[in-house]
Amino acid sequence: MKADIVTIFPDFFRGPLDHGITRRAQEMGLAKIQVHDLREFTRDRHRTVDDRPFGGGEGMVLKPEPLFECLESMRLASQEDRVAGRVKQSVVLLSAQGQRFTQKVAAELVLLDRIVFVCGRYEGVDERVADFLADRELSIGDYVLSGGEIAAAVIVEAVMRLLPGAVGNEASTQQESFTVDAKVRGSEGADSTCGSNGLLDYPHYTRPAEFRGMAVPEALMSGNHEEIRKWRRKRALEKTLRNRPDLLQGAMLSDEDKKFLAGIRRDRG
Ligand code: SAM
Repeated sequence: MKADIVTIFPDFFRGPLDHGITRRAQEMGLAKIQVHDLREFTRDRHRTVDDRPFGGGEGMVLKPEPLFECLESMRLASQEDRVAGRVKQSVVLLSAQGQRFTQKVAAELVLLDRIVFVCGRYEGVDERVADFLADRELSIGDYVLSGGEIAAAVIVEAVMRLLPGAVGNEASTQQESFTVDAKVRGSEGADSTCGSNGLLDYPHYTRPAEFRGMAVPEALMSGNHEEIRKWRRKRALEKTLRNRPDLLQGAMLSDEDKKFLAGIRRDRG
């Protein structure tokens, strides 16, 4: 997979993507990340990338010319072909007004060969970029950042860890929070793990078994896989109900799960 990042702050990416799984994916040849300095595509001596908004209002807006020229230099397929899914490419405009980036979107993006990330700045980007250049706008959450760089790094990291081979133990990416994967068991199975099937992950503990009077739950020490699996599933259900009840609607729940949740709700009154 190739990821191109278009930014006015290319140095920003020196740190975040040079560690851990994104570094590993690049070293293994699974991914290539190229950062493009938008100012290289300006034509004036001040290397101007922004201008005042038509109609008045606060702040500055990223101009269309350098962005169009930068993306044209990449020789991508047309926006029409990308939107129709005729090519495995996407141009993503990072925007607070975009569709919410989720694990499901990460699983869609990892199937592509090439993703271009356009990082906005100031009050945003000339809307013609969203209309005629990008094929999707993505937001990493309902808050406003000063630029798209952190959002691009978040998405690159979330997508690249799904590349087959990028994470040492691939099964771990199928058991994580938010992941819905039919191959991973929900409440049945012979080992002690359970897939999240759209829930938050279950709690994890490691040695020591007792730390400053805080003991690891007994069920995990039992060695009984079935008991451990049931304990994990219940804790995942409890945590999801407590922190992200919205996820329960899309989660794959067994009759046993539903009964357990109904019990908690009844106890709460
Ligand atoms: N005027 C815009 C608004 O109110 O929606 C905010 C612009 S923001 C200050 C500048 C840039 O940061 C945006 O163009 C976008 O690239 C990026 N950005 C801000 N919040 C974001 C978010 N939640 N997700 C993705 N990108 C974001």
